[in-house]
Amino acid sequence: MSRTVQIRGDSAVFPGDACVHCLRPSVDTVVLTSVRRRTVRRVNVPMCDECIALRQSKSPAQLQFERIATVVSFLLAWAAGIWTYTSVLSWDAVAHSVAWPWAALLGVLAVEIAFGALYLIVRPWSRHFRSPEIRSVLACVAIRDFDWETTALLFADDEYADRFAQANQVANARQPAEQTVPKV
Ligand SMILES: [Zn+2]
Repeated sequence: MSRTVQIRGDSAVFPGDACVHCLRPSVDTVVLTSVRRRTVRRVNVPMCDECIALRQSKSPAQLQFERIATVVSFLLAWAAGIWTYTSVLSWDAVAHSVAWPWAALLGVLAVEIAFGALYLIVRPWSRHFRSPEIRSVLACVAIRDFDWETTALLFADDEYADRFAQANQVANARQPAEQTVPKV
């Protein structure tokens, strides 16, 4: 199903510099990033224009979900704002003529907080509506793990992972010993 290949450092050799997803010739790269504590590991991966575009795209179902979720979030946020405004005005302690600007201010604050909180829920939720093609291009390669000396890359395709492992073994064998010390 999927296979992990460990490389030295962060510079990987990709077979034929072909797109990791569809194996078409590619001149562009995407940067995989992984963060652990304060260390960031970046690996450049060759990918063709079509796959890069697909990687950055959203499926029609995802776009529709986001549109509906935005409208619902907006309405809920406004409801929270109006509720806050009327609640503040009904407090005995502030129920006098100068209270309404404070109630309005708290109402606006409630709208912003509610909309922000709903956005944090909607954004990850919308990923469930990705198309199989987009999922496939996003999952073809990822950084699984890394330390100072090595990076483990996870490939969705076993056959490609085997070719990748071979290409990197050959590249490492060619390097003189002093150059194999990690650059970090
Ligand atoms: Zn491609």
